[in-house]
Amino acid sequence: MIYLDHAATTKVDPQVFAAMRPFLQDQYGNPSSFYRLAAQARRALEEARGQVAQYINAKPGEIIFTGCGSEADNFAIKGTAWAYRDQGRHIITSAIEHHAVLDSCKSLEADGFEVTYLPVDNTGLVDPHQLGAAIRDDTILVTIMHGNNEVGTIEPISEIGSLCRERGVLFHSDAVQTLGKLPIDVEKLNVDMLAFSAHKIYGPKGVGALYVRRGVKLRRLIDGGSQEFGKRAGTENVAGIVGLGKAVELLAERADEDNQHITTLRDQLISNIQQRIEHVILTGHPTQRLPHIASFCVRYIEGEGILLSLDAEGICASSGSACTSGSLEASHVLLAMGYSHDVAHGSLRLSLGRENTEQQVARVVEVLPDMVKRLRDISPLWADAHRSGQV
Ligand SMILES: *Cc1c(COP(=O)(O)O)cnc(C)c1O
Repeated sequence: MIYLDHAATTKVDPQVFAAMRPFLQDQYGNPSSFYRLAAQARRALEEARGQVAQYINAKPGEIIFTGCGSEADNFAIKGTAWAYRDQGRHIITSAIEHHAVLDSCKSLEADGFEVTYLPVDNTGLVDPHQLGAAIRDDTILVTIMHGNNEVGTIEPISEIGSLCRERGVLFHSDAVQTLGKLPIDVEKLNVDMLAFSAHKIYGPKGVGALYVRRGVKLRRLIDGGSQEFGKRAGTENVAGIVGLGKAVELLAERADEDNQHITTLRDQLISNIQQRIEHVILTGHPTQRLPHIASFCVRYIEGEGILLSLDAEGICASSGSACTSGSLEASHVLLAMGYSHDVAHGSLRLSLGRENTEQQVARVVEVLPDMVKRLRDISPLWADAHRSGQV
């Protein structure tokens, strides 16, 4: 098998699994209880909080563990919207956010908040000047992702953050795809909140974290016990949180080396695919892009067709995001970047990870051209393009 869908999820690192294991077995204490078994769990939880905080230059008290990256986004957006609603009800985001952000905003619109969805250019970039112009007296929150999960474009977060600070508006960013791929320092990025997820960085599924700058108020989403500084009720996922902490610790040790490796592989994919296949568009920014994402629109065929053919060869890839590829809707990201429905339907995302090899990349670029040719031969879009002289 050749796994090229690391933007969807990653395999748990053996060292992460080893760190988690005791907390699923002998050290099963509830961190809120009053005996040594519980104290062990409590210590492990706080150690993980320290690991995450240190990696992003935050304080441990500014890290709240959540049930996933989606929950971290929901909490940042709905939590601040409800906490600051007396100061205004306007929120700014972009048209290319993950659905965890977009649907949180939609849900707030239904509750009387107003949301501006900023457009992006053809490379997927948000324009900070346009963002500045969209800030109003009643704007309480700006949420713009750090790196896009479908096309890999890196947004100018630090600039957007300083703009928000000048205007006295809170700034949240979804950093689920960038953790471990780009340096993350909450001071340099000028963010008030940042969302993370463990399973995108070789940690377990079902655990995430939200960085919340000291002083920022959030109304909690989950009521009950006083876990997580009273901000998120529910007995902590101790093993999962320990896994997140360990995964982040491993990033500090090996991310630089891993990123060099995957950048090389990404560039091999991009150049070979562009050379060997006609009518392929590289989507996203040519240089301001995440090291692990190679994304394309293969003209005149459906992305789903390519995925099926790749799967038959043991190659896992995706078309758009995992969330949209279950449906036949074109990617909202590609549409926002100005691609037509026809072009957007041919999207293909190959996302790399630390275990991929040059041999695997060579195999993919070897089989892909024939697959595309076979699919085009039976594609009505290709026949039409021929008839009208487009190809
Ligand atoms: C995967 C992803 C999420 C959601 O994280 P989960 O832990 O799967 O809920 C949010 N934002 C981005 C950009 C993602 O890639």
